[in-house]
Amino acid sequence: MGDEMTVCDVLVVGAGPGGGNAALQCSRKGLSTIIIEDHAEIGTPVHCGECISEIACQNLELTLPEEVISKRVHGIRVIFPDGTEKRLTEEGYVLEKHLFERWITDEAVSAGATLNLGHKLLSMERAEGEPFSGWVCDGKGDQFPITAKVVIDASGVAAVCSRLVKPDGEAPLNQKGKVVAGMQYELLEVPTDGYLDFYIWPSYAEKGYLWMIPKCDGRANVGLVTEDKPRTKKALDEFISNTHFSESEQSLPSWKEKGSPAFGGTIPISGPFERTHYDGLILVGDAAGFTSPLFEGGSHLALKSAVFAAHTAANAISEGDLTSDRLSEYARLWKAEFPPYGKILRGKTALFELSDDEMSVMATCFPDEMSGMGITGKAMVGLRLLLRKPTLYFKRIVPAMLAFGYSRAKYYGW
Ligand SMILES: Cc1cc2nc3c(=O)[nH]c(=O)nc-3n(C[C@H](O)[C@H](O)[C@H](O)COP(=O)(O)OP(=O)(O)OC[C@H]3O[C@@H](n4cnc5c(N)ncnc54)[C@H](O)[C@@H]3O)c2cc1C
Repeated sequence: MGDEMTVCDVLVVGAGPGGGNAALQCSRKGLSTIIIEDHAEIGTPVHCGECISEIACQNLELTLPEEVISKRVHGIRVIFPDGTEKRLTEEGYVLEKHLFERWITDEAVSAGATLNLGHKLLSMERAEGEPFSGWVCDGKGDQFPITAKVVIDASGVAAVCSRLVKPDGEAPLNQKGKVVAGMQYELLEVPTDGYLDFYIWPSYAEKGYLWMIPKCDGRANVGLVTEDKPRTKKALDEFISNTHFSESEQSLPSWKEKGSPAFGGTIPISGPFERTHYDGLILVGDAAGFTSPLFEGGSHLALKSAVFAAHTAANAISEGDLTSDRLSEYARLWKAEFPPYGKILRGKTALFELSDDEMSVMATCFPDEMSGMGITGKAMVGLRLLLRKPTLYFKRIVPAMLAFGYSRAKYYGW
Protein backbone atom coordinates (compact mmCIF):
# COMPACT_ATOMS: atom_id res chain seq x y z
CA MET A 1 0.00 0.00 0.00
CA GLY A 2 1.39 3.45 -0.88
CA ASP A 3 1.40 6.55 1.38
CA GLU A 4 -0.33 8.77 -1.15
CA MET A 5 -3.94 8.51 -2.18
CA THR A 6 -4.62 7.78 -5.88
CA VAL A 7 -7.66 9.71 -7.11
CA CYS A 8 -9.84 9.11 -10.19
CA ASP A 9 -13.35 9.57 -11.54
CA VAL A 10 -13.95 5.86 -12.11
CA LEU A 11 -12.32 2.76 -10.67
CA VAL A 12 -13.06 -0.37 -12.70
CA VAL A 13 -12.55 -3.60 -10.76
CA GLY A 14 -11.53 -6.53 -12.99
CA ALA A 15 -10.14 -6.66 -16.54
CA GLY A 16 -12.44 -9.23 -18.16
CA PRO A 17 -14.64 -8.21 -21.10
CA GLY A 18 -16.94 -6.17 -18.84
CA GLY A 19 -14.12 -4.31 -17.11
CA GLY A 20 -12.06 -3.77 -20.26
CA ASN A 21 -14.99 -2.26 -22.11
CA ALA A 22 -16.13 -0.21 -19.09
CA ALA A 23 -12.64 1.33 -18.88
CA LEU A 24 -12.59 1.94 -22.64
CA GLN A 25 -16.01 3.62 -22.70
CA CYS A 26 -15.28 5.74 -19.59
CA SER A 27 -11.93 6.90 -20.99
CA ARG A 28 -13.52 7.80 -24.32
CA LYS A 29 -15.95 9.98 -22.39
CA GLY A 30 -13.03 11.87 -20.87
CA LEU A 31 -13.33 10.38 -17.36
CA SER A 32 -10.09 9.72 -15.49
CA THR A 33 -10.23 5.95 -15.23
CA ILE A 34 -8.22 3.33 -13.37
CA ILE A 35 -8.69 -0.37 -14.08
CA ILE A 36 -7.35 -2.91 -11.60
CA GLU A 37 -6.90 -6.63 -12.16
CA ASP A 38 -6.18 -9.15 -9.45
CA HIS A 39 -4.01 -11.37 -11.70
CA ALA A 40 -0.53 -10.50 -12.90
CA GLU A 41 -1.70 -10.73 -16.52
CA ILE A 42 -5.02 -10.23 -18.27
CA GLY A 43 -7.21 -13.04 -19.53
CA THR A 44 -5.63 -16.08 -17.93
CA PRO A 45 -6.59 -18.57 -16.78
CA VAL A 46 -9.21 -18.58 -19.57
CA HIS A 47 -12.63 -19.40 -18.16
CA CYS A 48 -14.71 -19.27 -21.31
CA GLY A 49 -15.74 -21.31 -24.38
CA GLU A 50 -14.52 -18.20 -26.24
CA CYS A 51 -17.33 -17.63 -28.73
CA ILE A 52 -18.97 -14.30 -29.58
CA SER A 53 -21.47 -13.52 -32.34
CA GLU A 54 -21.08 -11.11 -35.22
CA ILE A 55 -24.29 -9.42 -34.01
CA ALA A 56 -22.59 -8.79 -30.65
CA CYS A 57 -19.60 -7.19 -32.38
CA GLN A 58 -21.91 -4.97 -34.45
CA ASN A 59 -24.03 -4.08 -31.42
CA LEU A 60 -20.87 -3.08 -29.55
CA GLU A 61 -19.18 -1.41 -32.52
CA LEU A 62 -16.17 -3.72 -32.04
CA THR A 63 -13.85 -4.25 -34.98
CA LEU A 64 -11.92 -7.30 -33.88
CA PRO A 65 -8.24 -7.39 -34.87
CA GLU A 66 -7.26 -10.60 -36.70
CA GLU A 67 -4.95 -11.78 -33.93
CA VAL A 68 -7.78 -12.19 -31.41
CA ILE A 69 -9.90 -14.29 -33.81
CA SER A 70 -9.20 -18.01 -33.75
CA LYS A 71 -11.96 -19.05 -36.18
CA ARG A 72 -15.02 -17.71 -37.97
CA VAL A 73 -18.08 -19.87 -37.24
CA HIS A 74 -21.59 -20.18 -38.71
CA GLY A 75 -23.75 -20.58 -35.61
CA ILE A 76 -24.94 -23.20 -33.16
CA ARG A 77 -25.97 -26.79 -33.89
CA VAL A 78 -28.06 -28.22 -31.05
CA ILE A 79 -27.75 -31.99 -30.69
CA PHE A 80 -30.52 -33.70 -28.71
CA PRO A 81 -30.24 -36.98 -26.72
CA ASP A 82 -31.23 -39.23 -29.66
CA GLY A 83 -28.75 -37.51 -31.98
CA THR A 84 -31.32 -35.27 -33.72
CA GLU A 85 -29.55 -32.12 -34.90
CA LYS A 86 -31.07 -28.64 -35.38
CA ARG A 87 -29.26 -25.45 -36.31
CA LEU A 88 -29.39 -21.85 -35.14
CA THR A 89 -27.38 -20.31 -37.97
CA GLU A 90 -25.84 -16.89 -37.34
CA GLU A 91 -22.27 -15.90 -38.00
CA GLY A 92 -19.75 -15.34 -35.26
CA TYR A 93 -16.24 -15.92 -33.98
CA VAL A 94 -14.31 -18.17 -31.68
CA LEU A 95 -11.75 -15.94 -30.00
CA GLU A 96 -8.42 -16.41 -28.37
CA LYS A 97 -10.25 -14.93 -25.41
CA HIS A 98 -7.19 -13.92 -23.38
CA LEU A 99 -5.89 -11.99 -26.40
CA PHE A 100 -9.33 -10.37 -26.87
CA GLU A 101 -9.35 -9.22 -23.23
CA ARG A 102 -5.81 -7.88 -23.55
CA TRP A 103 -6.74 -6.06 -26.76
CA ILE A 104 -9.80 -4.34 -25.29
CA THR A 105 -7.84 -3.27 -22.20
CA ASP A 106 -5.01 -1.99 -24.42
CA GLU A 107 -7.64 0.06 -26.27
CA ALA A 108 -8.77 1.48 -22.92
CA VAL A 109 -5.19 2.37 -22.01
CA SER A 110 -4.69 4.03 -25.42
CA ALA A 111 -7.83 6.06 -24.71
CA GLY A 112 -6.29 7.24 -21.43
CA ALA A 113 -7.11 4.64 -18.76
CA THR A 114 -4.47 3.51 -16.25
CA LEU A 115 -4.07 -0.24 -15.82
CA ASN A 116 -2.82 -1.72 -12.56
CA LEU A 117 -2.17 -5.45 -12.71
CA GLY A 118 -1.73 -7.51 -9.55
CA HIS A 119 -4.15 -5.23 -7.70
CA LYS A 120 -6.91 -6.88 -5.71
CA LEU A 121 -9.76 -4.88 -4.18
CA LEU A 122 -10.31 -5.90 -0.56
CA SER A 123 -12.27 -3.07 1.06
CA MET A 124 -14.41 -0.02 0.27
CA GLU A 125 -15.35 2.84 2.62
CA ARG A 126 -17.56 5.80 1.85
CA ALA A 127 -15.46 8.96 1.45
CA GLU A 128 -16.10 11.57 4.14
CA GLY A 129 -18.78 14.20 3.70
CA GLU A 130 -22.34 14.59 2.51
CA PRO A 131 -23.75 14.35 -0.08
CA PHE A 132 -22.09 11.12 -1.16
CA SER A 133 -18.76 11.96 -2.80
CA GLY A 134 -17.16 8.60 -3.64
CA TRP A 135 -15.39 5.50 -2.35
CA VAL A 136 -12.02 5.01 -0.71
CA CYS A 137 -10.90 1.61 -1.95
CA ASP A 138 -8.12 -0.44 -0.46
CA GLY A 139 -6.50 -3.76 -1.18
CA LYS A 140 -3.40 -5.63 -2.29
CA GLY A 141 -1.23 -3.56 -4.66
CA ASP A 142 0.98 -0.49 -4.38
CA GLN A 143 -1.46 1.99 -5.96
CA PHE A 144 -3.96 1.55 -3.11
CA PRO A 145 -5.71 3.36 -1.51
CA ILE A 146 -7.65 4.62 -4.53
CA THR A 147 -10.44 7.18 -4.21
CA ALA A 148 -13.06 7.06 -6.97
CA LYS A 149 -16.29 8.96 -7.54
CA VAL A 150 -17.79 5.85 -9.11
CA VAL A 151 -16.70 2.22 -8.81
CA ILE A 152 -17.68 -0.16 -11.62
CA ASP A 153 -17.63 -3.71 -10.32
CA ALA A 154 -16.59 -5.99 -13.19
CA SER A 155 -15.09 -8.66 -10.94
CA GLY A 156 -17.03 -11.49 -12.57
CA VAL A 157 -18.51 -14.28 -10.52
CA ALA A 158 -16.52 -13.04 -7.46
CA ALA A 159 -18.93 -10.06 -7.39
CA VAL A 160 -16.58 -8.47 -4.88
CA CYS A 161 -18.41 -5.15 -4.30
CA SER A 162 -21.69 -6.93 -3.56
CA ARG A 163 -19.89 -8.51 -0.61
CA LEU A 164 -17.85 -5.48 0.54
CA VAL A 165 -20.63 -2.89 0.47
CA LYS A 166 -23.12 -3.20 3.33
CA PRO A 167 -25.81 -0.53 2.96
CA ASP A 168 -27.29 -1.04 6.44
CA GLY A 169 -23.97 -1.88 8.08
CA GLU A 170 -24.62 -5.62 8.20
CA ALA A 171 -26.18 -7.36 5.23
CA PRO A 172 -24.21 -7.27 1.97
CA LEU A 173 -25.56 -5.32 -1.00
CA ASN A 174 -26.57 -8.59 -2.71
CA GLN A 175 -26.79 -12.15 -1.46
CA LYS A 176 -24.59 -14.70 -3.21
CA GLY A 177 -26.40 -16.23 -6.20
CA LYS A 178 -26.35 -19.81 -7.51
CA VAL A 179 -23.58 -20.85 -9.90
CA VAL A 180 -22.94 -23.76 -12.26
CA ALA A 181 -19.56 -25.32 -12.90
CA GLY A 182 -18.03 -25.26 -16.37
CA MET A 183 -14.98 -27.21 -17.51
CA GLN A 184 -13.30 -27.91 -20.81
CA TYR A 185 -10.26 -29.38 -22.56
CA GLU A 186 -8.51 -28.27 -25.68
CA LEU A 187 -8.51 -31.19 -28.11
CA LEU A 188 -6.54 -31.54 -31.36
CA GLU A 189 -7.63 -32.64 -34.84
CA VAL A 190 -11.33 -32.31 -34.12
CA PRO A 191 -13.49 -32.56 -37.25
CA THR A 192 -15.74 -29.52 -37.84
CA ASP A 193 -17.91 -27.85 -40.47
CA GLY A 194 -17.69 -24.52 -38.65
CA TYR A 195 -20.69 -24.83 -36.30
CA LEU A 196 -20.55 -24.74 -32.51
CA ASP A 197 -21.94 -28.13 -31.42
CA PHE A 198 -24.07 -27.92 -28.27
CA TYR A 199 -25.17 -31.31 -26.91
CA ILE A 200 -28.21 -31.28 -24.65
CA TRP A 201 -27.46 -34.64 -23.07
CA PRO A 202 -28.65 -34.57 -19.44
CA SER A 203 -27.13 -37.98 -18.66
CA TYR A 204 -23.71 -36.25 -18.76
CA ALA A 205 -24.61 -32.62 -18.05
CA GLU A 206 -27.47 -32.31 -15.60
CA LYS A 207 -29.46 -29.13 -16.27
CA GLY A 208 -26.63 -28.02 -18.52
CA TYR A 209 -25.05 -29.02 -21.82
CA LEU A 210 -21.81 -30.07 -23.48
CA TRP A 211 -20.02 -28.29 -26.30
CA MET A 212 -17.48 -28.58 -29.07
CA ILE A 213 -16.30 -25.10 -29.98
CA PRO A 214 -13.92 -25.29 -32.97
CA LYS A 215 -10.77 -23.19 -33.13
CA CYS A 216 -8.07 -22.77 -35.76
CA ASP A 217 -5.59 -25.53 -36.72
CA GLY A 218 -8.06 -28.31 -35.83
CA ARG A 219 -8.12 -27.34 -32.16
CA ALA A 220 -11.43 -27.27 -30.26
CA ASN A 221 -12.72 -26.53 -26.78
CA VAL A 222 -14.71 -29.55 -25.64
CA GLY A 223 -16.47 -29.00 -22.36
CA LEU A 224 -19.61 -28.89 -20.30
CA VAL A 225 -21.61 -26.95 -17.74
CA THR A 226 -23.63 -28.84 -15.19
CA GLU A 227 -25.47 -28.30 -11.93
CA ASP A 228 -23.94 -31.57 -10.71
CA LYS A 229 -20.73 -29.79 -9.64
CA PRO A 230 -18.90 -32.73 -7.99
CA ARG A 231 -19.31 -34.82 -11.18
CA THR A 232 -18.12 -32.12 -13.61
CA LYS A 233 -14.73 -33.62 -14.54
CA LYS A 234 -15.87 -37.25 -14.41
CA ALA A 235 -18.87 -36.49 -16.65
CA LEU A 236 -16.70 -34.63 -19.17
CA ASP A 237 -14.13 -37.44 -19.24
CA GLU A 238 -16.90 -40.01 -19.78
CA PHE A 239 -18.47 -37.96 -22.56
CA ILE A 240 -15.14 -37.72 -24.37
CA SER A 241 -14.28 -41.38 -24.00
CA ASN A 242 -17.79 -42.51 -25.14
CA THR A 243 -17.90 -40.35 -28.28
CA HIS A 244 -15.80 -39.70 -31.40
CA PHE A 245 -13.81 -37.18 -29.31
CA SER A 246 -11.94 -40.15 -27.83
CA GLU A 247 -9.90 -40.14 -31.07
CA SER A 248 -8.66 -36.58 -30.46
CA GLU A 249 -5.54 -35.89 -28.46
CA GLN A 250 -5.63 -33.47 -25.51
CA SER A 251 -3.25 -30.53 -25.44
CA LEU A 252 -2.37 -27.73 -23.06
CA PRO A 253 -3.76 -24.43 -24.35
CA SER A 254 -1.03 -22.00 -25.50
CA TRP A 255 -1.46 -19.79 -22.41
CA LYS A 256 -0.86 -22.72 -20.04
CA GLU A 257 2.67 -24.03 -19.54
CA LYS A 258 2.00 -26.84 -17.09
CA GLY A 259 -0.63 -28.41 -14.86
CA SER A 260 -3.94 -30.09 -15.60
CA PRO A 261 -5.19 -29.75 -19.19
CA ALA A 262 -8.70 -29.02 -17.84
CA PHE A 263 -9.72 -25.39 -17.44
CA GLY A 264 -12.96 -23.61 -16.59
CA GLY A 265 -14.79 -21.77 -13.87
CA THR A 266 -18.23 -21.01 -12.54
CA ILE A 267 -21.13 -19.12 -14.08
CA PRO A 268 -23.87 -17.23 -12.21
CA ILE A 269 -27.33 -18.69 -12.87
CA SER A 270 -29.64 -16.81 -10.49
CA GLY A 271 -30.22 -13.97 -12.94
CA PRO A 272 -29.57 -10.25 -12.48
CA PHE A 273 -28.90 -9.24 -8.88
CA GLU A 274 -31.60 -7.39 -7.04
CA ARG A 275 -29.39 -4.30 -6.81
CA THR A 276 -27.16 -3.54 -9.78
CA HIS A 277 -26.34 -0.01 -8.59
CA TYR A 278 -25.90 1.86 -5.31
CA ASP A 279 -24.32 5.14 -4.19
CA GLY A 280 -21.30 5.54 -6.49
CA LEU A 281 -21.40 1.91 -7.53
CA ILE A 282 -22.46 0.08 -10.70
CA LEU A 283 -22.25 -3.69 -11.25
CA VAL A 284 -21.64 -5.08 -14.75
CA GLY A 285 -21.31 -8.49 -16.42
CA ASP A 286 -21.14 -11.62 -14.27
CA ALA A 287 -20.74 -9.39 -11.19
CA ALA A 288 -24.32 -8.23 -11.83
CA GLY A 289 -25.54 -11.77 -12.59
CA PHE A 290 -25.93 -11.06 -16.34
CA THR A 291 -25.68 -14.38 -18.18
CA SER A 292 -27.91 -15.89 -20.82
CA PRO A 293 -29.99 -18.59 -19.07
CA LEU A 294 -29.98 -21.54 -21.49
CA PHE A 295 -26.41 -21.66 -22.85
CA GLU A 296 -24.91 -19.37 -20.20
CA GLY A 297 -23.03 -17.01 -22.54
CA GLY A 298 -22.05 -13.82 -20.73
CA SER A 299 -19.53 -11.88 -22.80
CA HIS A 300 -22.06 -10.00 -24.94
CA LEU A 301 -24.04 -8.99 -21.83
CA ALA A 302 -20.86 -8.00 -19.95
CA LEU A 303 -19.62 -5.83 -22.83
CA LYS A 304 -23.02 -4.14 -23.31
CA SER A 305 -23.68 -3.54 -19.62
CA ALA A 306 -20.28 -1.81 -19.54
CA VAL A 307 -21.55 0.64 -22.19
CA PHE A 308 -24.60 1.46 -20.03
CA ALA A 309 -22.41 1.78 -16.92
CA ALA A 310 -20.01 4.25 -18.58
CA HIS A 311 -22.90 6.31 -19.94
CA THR A 312 -24.53 6.51 -16.50
CA ALA A 313 -21.27 7.23 -14.66
CA ALA A 314 -20.38 10.05 -17.08
CA ASN A 315 -23.80 11.70 -16.68
CA ALA A 316 -23.76 11.37 -12.88
CA ILE A 317 -20.23 12.75 -12.56
CA SER A 318 -20.94 15.71 -14.84
CA GLU A 319 -24.06 16.55 -12.80
CA GLY A 320 -22.20 16.10 -9.51
CA ASP A 321 -24.82 13.64 -8.25
CA LEU A 322 -23.37 10.20 -7.46
CA THR A 323 -26.28 8.90 -5.43
CA SER A 324 -28.03 5.62 -5.98
CA ASP A 325 -31.07 7.56 -7.23
CA ARG A 326 -29.03 9.18 -9.98
CA LEU A 327 -27.34 5.91 -10.92
CA SER A 328 -30.73 4.18 -11.27
CA GLU A 329 -30.49 5.30 -14.90
CA TYR A 330 -28.24 2.26 -15.32
CA ALA A 331 -30.93 -0.18 -14.17
CA ARG A 332 -33.47 1.47 -16.47
CA LEU A 333 -31.12 1.10 -19.44
CA TRP A 334 -30.30 -2.58 -19.01
CA LYS A 335 -33.85 -3.54 -18.10
CA ALA A 336 -35.11 -1.93 -21.30
CA GLU A 337 -32.52 -3.75 -23.42
CA PHE A 338 -31.77 -7.19 -21.99
CA PRO A 339 -34.16 -10.12 -22.58
CA PRO A 340 -36.54 -11.23 -19.81
CA TYR A 341 -34.41 -13.51 -17.64
CA GLY A 342 -37.29 -15.01 -15.64
CA LYS A 343 -39.23 -15.96 -18.76
CA ILE A 344 -36.25 -17.68 -20.39
CA LEU A 345 -35.40 -19.43 -17.14
CA ARG A 346 -38.94 -20.85 -16.98
CA GLY A 347 -38.34 -22.22 -20.50
CA LYS A 348 -35.05 -23.77 -19.45
CA THR A 349 -36.69 -25.35 -16.39
CA ALA A 350 -39.48 -26.76 -18.57
CA LEU A 351 -36.87 -28.15 -20.99
CA PHE A 352 -35.02 -30.00 -18.24
CA GLU A 353 -38.24 -31.42 -16.85
CA LEU A 354 -38.63 -33.38 -20.09
CA SER A 355 -37.33 -36.94 -20.29
CA ASP A 356 -34.66 -37.68 -22.93
CA ASP A 357 -37.37 -39.27 -25.12
CA GLU A 358 -39.69 -36.29 -24.81
CA MET A 359 -36.86 -33.91 -25.62
CA SER A 360 -36.04 -35.90 -28.72
CA VAL A 361 -39.69 -35.95 -29.88
CA MET A 362 -39.82 -32.20 -29.39
CA ALA A 363 -36.62 -31.82 -31.42
CA THR A 364 -37.93 -33.87 -34.35
CA CYS A 365 -40.83 -31.39 -34.60
CA PHE A 366 -38.46 -28.41 -34.97
CA PRO A 367 -37.43 -27.29 -38.45
CA ASP A 368 -33.79 -28.11 -39.32
CA GLU A 369 -33.02 -24.39 -39.19
CA MET A 370 -34.42 -22.82 -36.02
CA SER A 371 -33.04 -19.29 -36.38
CA GLY A 372 -35.79 -17.82 -38.54
CA MET A 373 -38.85 -19.45 -36.91
CA GLY A 374 -41.60 -16.85 -37.20
CA ILE A 375 -45.16 -17.21 -35.98
CA THR A 376 -46.01 -19.65 -38.80
CA GLY A 377 -42.92 -21.75 -38.04
CA LYS A 378 -43.85 -21.98 -34.37
CA ALA A 379 -47.45 -22.89 -35.28
CA MET A 380 -46.11 -25.70 -37.51
CA VAL A 381 -44.01 -27.04 -34.63
CA GLY A 382 -47.12 -26.92 -32.44
CA LEU A 383 -49.13 -28.85 -35.01
CA ARG A 384 -46.46 -31.54 -35.43
CA LEU A 385 -46.23 -31.93 -31.65
CA LEU A 386 -49.98 -32.27 -31.37
CA LEU A 387 -49.93 -35.06 -33.93
CA ARG A 388 -46.91 -36.92 -32.52
CA LYS A 389 -47.25 -36.55 -28.76
CA PRO A 390 -50.20 -34.41 -27.57
CA THR A 391 -49.31 -35.01 -23.89
CA LEU A 392 -46.19 -32.87 -24.38
CA TYR A 393 -48.45 -29.83 -24.45
CA PHE A 394 -49.04 -30.22 -20.74
CA LYS A 395 -45.28 -30.10 -20.11
CA ARG A 396 -44.88 -26.42 -20.93
CA ILE A 397 -43.28 -27.22 -24.25
CA VAL A 398 -43.91 -23.70 -25.60
CA PRO A 399 -41.70 -21.95 -23.01
CA ALA A 400 -39.06 -24.65 -23.58
CA MET A 401 -39.16 -23.89 -27.29
CA LEU A 402 -38.91 -20.14 -26.66
CA ALA A 403 -35.75 -20.65 -24.59
CA PHE A 404 -33.97 -21.69 -27.82
CA GLY A 405 -35.19 -18.55 -29.59
CA TYR A 406 -33.86 -16.41 -26.75
CA SER A 407 -30.44 -18.03 -27.10
CA ARG A 408 -29.87 -16.20 -30.38
CA ALA A 409 -27.31 -13.42 -30.63
CA LYS A 410 -29.89 -10.65 -30.93
CA TYR A 411 -31.16 -11.65 -27.48
CA TYR A 412 -27.63 -11.57 -26.08
CA GLY A 413 -27.33 -15.39 -26.20
CA TRP A 414 -23.73 -15.12 -27.44
C1 LIG B 1 -16.38 -22.82 -18.83
C2 LIG B 1 -17.03 -21.54 -19.26
C3 LIG B 1 -17.34 -21.37 -20.62
C4 LIG B 1 -17.93 -20.16 -21.05
N1 LIG B 1 -18.16 -19.98 -22.38
C5 LIG B 1 -18.65 -18.81 -22.83
C6 LIG B 1 -18.77 -18.52 -24.23
O1 LIG B 1 -18.38 -19.32 -25.08
N2 LIG B 1 -19.29 -17.33 -24.61
C7 LIG B 1 -19.67 -16.39 -23.69
O2 LIG B 1 -20.17 -15.31 -24.09
N3 LIG B 1 -19.55 -16.60 -22.36
C8 LIG B 1 -19.03 -17.77 -21.91
N4 LIG B 1 -18.83 -17.97 -20.56
C9 LIG B 1 -19.18 -16.88 -19.64
C10 LIG B 1 -18.16 -15.76 -19.76
O3 LIG B 1 -16.85 -16.25 -19.57
C11 LIG B 1 -18.44 -14.68 -18.71
O4 LIG B 1 -19.83 -14.38 -18.72
C12 LIG B 1 -17.65 -13.41 -19.02
O5 LIG B 1 -16.27 -13.65 -18.97
C13 LIG B 1 -18.03 -12.34 -18.00
O6 LIG B 1 -17.18 -11.24 -18.14
P1 LIG B 1 -16.89 -10.28 -16.90
O7 LIG B 1 -16.01 -9.22 -17.42
O8 LIG B 1 -18.17 -9.92 -16.26
O9 LIG B 1 -16.13 -11.18 -15.82
P2 LIG B 1 -14.75 -12.03 -15.94
O10 LIG B 1 -14.45 -12.36 -17.36
O11 LIG B 1 -14.90 -13.16 -15.00
O12 LIG B 1 -13.67 -11.03 -15.42
C14 LIG B 1 -13.59 -10.66 -14.06
C15 LIG B 1 -12.17 -10.21 -13.75
O13 LIG B 1 -12.16 -9.62 -12.45
C16 LIG B 1 -10.98 -10.03 -11.77
N5 LIG B 1 -11.22 -9.89 -10.33
C17 LIG B 1 -12.01 -10.63 -9.54
N6 LIG B 1 -12.00 -10.18 -8.27
C18 LIG B 1 -11.16 -9.11 -8.26
C19 LIG B 1 -10.73 -8.21 -7.21
N7 LIG B 1 -11.14 -8.33 -5.95
N8 LIG B 1 -9.87 -7.21 -7.55
C20 LIG B 1 -9.43 -7.08 -8.85
N9 LIG B 1 -9.81 -7.89 -9.84
C21 LIG B 1 -10.67 -8.91 -9.56
C22 LIG B 1 -10.78 -11.47 -12.24
O14 LIG B 1 -9.45 -11.89 -12.05
C23 LIG B 1 -11.19 -11.38 -13.71
O15 LIG B 1 -10.09 -11.09 -14.54
C24 LIG B 1 -18.24 -19.15 -20.10
C25 LIG B 1 -17.93 -19.34 -18.75
C26 LIG B 1 -17.32 -20.52 -18.33
C27 LIG B 1 -16.98 -20.69 -16.87
